[in-house]
Amino acid sequence: GKVLVSGANGYIAVWLVKKLLDEGYSVRGTVRSASKGVYLSKIFASYGDKFELVVVEDITKDGAFDEAVKGVDAIEHTASPFHFKADDPNELIIPAIHGTRSILVSALKYGTNVKRVVITSSCAAVLDNYPEPRTFSEKDWNEGSSREVQEKGREAAQPAKYRASKTLAERAAWDFIKENKDQVKFDLAVINPPFVYGPVLHEVDKPEDLNTSAADWFTTIVKATKDDAALVAGGTEWVDVRDVALAHVLALQKEEAGGERIIVSSGKWVWQDWVAAAHKIDPTLSAGNTAHDPATAVYRIRYDVSKAARIFGIKYITLEQTTKDTLAQYKEKGWY
Ligand code: NDP
Repeated sequence: GKVLVSGANGYIAVWLVKKLLDEGYSVRGTVRSASKGVYLSKIFASYGDKFELVVVEDITKDGAFDEAVKGVDAIEHTASPFHFKADDPNELIIPAIHGTRSILVSALKYGTNVKRVVITSSCAAVLDNYPEPRTFSEKDWNEGSSREVQEKGREAAQPAKYRASKTLAERAAWDFIKENKDQVKFDLAVINPPFVYGPVLHEVDKPEDLNTSAADWFTTIVKATKDDAALVAGGTEWVDVRDVALAHVLALQKEEAGGERIIVSSGKWVWQDWVAAAHKIDPTLSAGNTAHDPATAVYRIRYDVSKAARIFGIKYITLEQTTKDTLAQYKEKGWY
C-alpha cells in the first residue's frame, strides 16, 4: 500500500519514512518547499519510485492536502511545530489544529482508499501539573496548558504553549471523527510519545540546526550546559526516535490500534541518567552530578505503557544504546 507522511523532512518523520519503505510500503511525503525535499530524494533514491514527494506549502489552508491524499491507503500526520520560541501561542496552535483538521477534511473528501489515519500527538497532550509524583495514562488529558494559554496568552510559559498546541490538535482529531462518524471510512490511531531522543536521519549540517529535543540532548550531554541541580530536577520519560517510527508503522498494521491513543515510552530519566551513561561510554564527557542514584530518586512524571505493550509489544531501545548510537553519530559528524 501507499502511505502519505506529512512533514516528511522532520526528525521523527524521516525515520518513519525509512521504516515504511523498508517494510515494503510506497511513501508519499509532504514538505513545505521543494528545497526541503532535495536531501530526502537523495537518501531514499535507492527505493526508486516507491518514494515520492509533494509540496504542501501551507498545511493550515482548507484543501491543502486535497491532492496529496488521492490514492493513498493510509496517512501518517506528523507535521506540527515543536519549539519553545513562540511569542504568540497561535504560532504553534494554529498550524497544529488546522494542519490536523485540514488533512482529515481532505482525507474525508478525496482519500477514498484511506483506511487509517495515524496522528503524532505527544505526552504533552497527556501530562498535567500535579502536586505529587504521578503515573499518567491514555485516560489523562492535559487540561492545564490550554487553560494557561487562554488566561495568559503571550505570557504563558513556553512549554504550556507547545503542550496546548498538541492537546488542542489531538482533541480536534478525535472530535472530527466523532462529528463525521457517518461519513468517515477510516479510523484514527494516535501515538503519544514523551521526549524523543536518538540519532538523526534528517538533514542537519550543524548541531545548532538540530530539532528541539535532539538539540537539548546535545547541549546538555556534549556541551555540559546544566548545573548539578538541573541535572536531577523533575524526572519524566523518553523513547528512542527509531521506536517512535516503529510504533507509527505498527499503528497502521495492528487492527486494535484503531480508535486508540497510545503512549509509547522506553522509561524514566533525569538529565543525569544520560550524563552518567555518556560518561561511561566516553570518559572525556562530564560525569555530572554523581550524587544522583536512579534507584532512590523520585521521577515526578511516569507513564503507564500497558496499552502499547498489549497492542505493539515493542522491545524498547535502552537509554544506554540510544546514548551510544547518538554519541557515535555526533562524533562521526565531527560535532565533538
Ligand atoms: P521536527 O521539528 O524535526 O519536525 C517537525 C515537522 O513539522 C517538520 O517537517 C516541519 O517542517 C513540520 N512543521 C513544523 N511547523 C510547521 C508548520 N507551521 N506548517 C507546516 N509544517 C510544519 O520535530 P519532530 O520530528 O520532533 O516532531 C514531529 C512530530 O512529533 C510533531 O508533531 C511533534 O509535536 C511530535 N513530537 C515530538 C517529540 C520530540 O521529543 N521530538 C515528542 C512528542 C511528539 P519544516 O521543516 O518545514 O519546518
